[in-house]
Amino acid sequence: MPTFSVWSVQDEQMLNLLEHMFYKLNLVTHFKMEAATLRQFLRSLQDHYGQNPFHNFRHGFCVTQMMYSLIFLCGLQDLLPPEDIVTLIVAALCHDVDHPGLNNNYQVNARTELASRYQNKSPLENHHCAVTMAILSRTDCDIFRNAAPEQARKILEGVAELILATDMALHPQILRSLQDVHSFSFSQEEHVALLKKGLIKFCDISNEARPVEEAELWADALMEEYFLQSDREKAEGLPVTPYMDRHTVTKAKSQRSFISFLLIPLCEALCQIFPQMTVWMLQPLQEARLRYERQTTEVSGRMGCVGESRRGGGGGVRHVRSVRGGGGFGEKSRHVRSVQGGRAGG
Ligand SMILES: [Zn+2]
Repeated sequence: MPTFSVWSVQDEQMLNLLEHMFYKLNLVTHFKMEAATLRQFLRSLQDHYGQNPFHNFRHGFCVTQMMYSLIFLCGLQDLLPPEDIVTLIVAALCHDVDHPGLNNNYQVNARTELASRYQNKSPLENHHCAVTMAILSRTDCDIFRNAAPEQARKILEGVAELILATDMALHPQILRSLQDVHSFSFSQEEHVALLKKGLIKFCDISNEARPVEEAELWADALMEEYFLQSDREKAEGLPVTPYMDRHTVTKAKSQRSFISFLLIPLCEALCQIFPQMTVWMLQPLQEARLRYERQTTEVSGRMGCVGESRRGGGGGVRHVRSVRGGGGFGEKSRHVRSVQGGRAGG
């Protein structure tokens, strides 16, 4: 469940647990997956995830583990067909594969090869899709090769759609659409399509719903990745992404804002459909928000009410990369430009 300790799992164990999820969800039987192919698919994904502080294989694992928890918590297997369940799991697993640790903002400003390949439109998410499809097209990794071709095609399209939805630039639009659904119905295709996007987005950014000690490590990892990016932006003379600057950003303020303006509203929208998420997800998020509010106030107090410490994140950021092979909870580069306040995205 969400309280599962994702930091204590070693690399090989992550593969075992992921494999277990495919079996437990009956996906192996239903789609006639071959054991060796499934293992190779998972191993190949692991190899293709970057060694970033945050956006790494542990993040992919973490998002998938949260999705797995939600599938059981919300009884999704009784509400959605196996095609949707496998789409949710595979998309969660693959959604950040080969992430370079530099977000879309950087890709566009630095005019990287990825940005030009995708005309500045969700370059990272498009890249994650492309790498996913390339892995799945390999005979030794094609977990859908025994599925009916039409069925496999639809699943892959669904996976791509969900990976693309994890671009945080789309957050306001997807959230608004979810909030606008008043009588949710599983028989309405567009409702279900929106729900799947909401679910993967929530899983992607849901670290703060985890136990404090787990969540803090993820937040530290994210800050570390952000600071590395802003250092690079400065070194290369590029515009510095405001919520990544180690001289102006603090974890408490950043997280408080992110939880308040992005994460809790998304969770509340999902709770309208699945009230059982309230206790397991919404309440821990509200507690996390309070915790960060307290931390922000304490820091402000110590600094003579001038605001938060500006000494920079380096001081407060633990180097989690070395802890168990790095972490990465991931939201996609929290780059939701204009969302009310705080770092774009928290
Ligand atoms: Zn992610």
